[in-house]
Amino acid sequence: MPRLRAAMGEMAEPAVEKIAEEEQSDPFKVLISTMLSAQTRDPVTLAASTRLFARAETPREMAGLRVATIEKLIYPVSFYRNKTRHLKKTCRLLLARHSGQVPTTMAELLELPGVGRKTANLVLIVALRSQENICVDTHVHRISNRLGWVETQTPAETEEALYQVAARRWWPLLNLYLVTWGQNVCKPVYPVCGRCAISTLCPQIGVVKVGK
Ligand code: SF4
Repeated sequence: MPRLRAAMGEMAEPAVEKIAEEEQSDPFKVLISTMLSAQTRDPVTLAASTRLFARAETPREMAGLRVATIEKLIYPVSFYRNKTRHLKKTCRLLLARHSGQVPTTMAELLELPGVGRKTANLVLIVALRSQENICVDTHVHRISNRLGWVETQTPAETEEALYQVAARRWWPLLNLYLVTWGQNVCKPVYPVCGRCAISTLCPQIGVVKVGK
């Protein structure tokens, strides 16, 4: 992890962390941008979030937007129609059950439409400064297995396994470091092992072809 931190240098931050920084870790905006980010490239997530927040900055304002308006604002994020429905329902639930605030527990977050463990963990870590959570997305799952830290089939299994093997001080940072590494070096296809700062520590499990 220290080697990764040193090597990350000027690499671009993942979209949600960037939004959190720009928006003073506003939990609502972190929640919404994380929901938008699922299976969507970071530049698309950033642009869509910016357009949406320019029109609606609170659950009340967002709940008041028409479906067609939200769809137009967030297009072309993946599954923009489904995500629009989830955003509207989530905003209504935040108003009805949580006085317009983002809840602060895993159980309550998971009750929100379209929110799974990845989104809930990222909100807890990035917006609510939790030190008790690990957020596992596809990058964290893939790289943890390539490194041999875990031997798992799904992100959910990886999350459970990482709680057992990762030192606690790194839990909230694992997502930031490994997503940054996964977007720039340890890519899904053709990881660039030849210029990887942690190649001497990595058994490259499951890597078939490397990139240049
Ligand atoms: S050596 Fe290759 S497989 Fe291992 S972390 Fe680096 S890029 Fe990924």
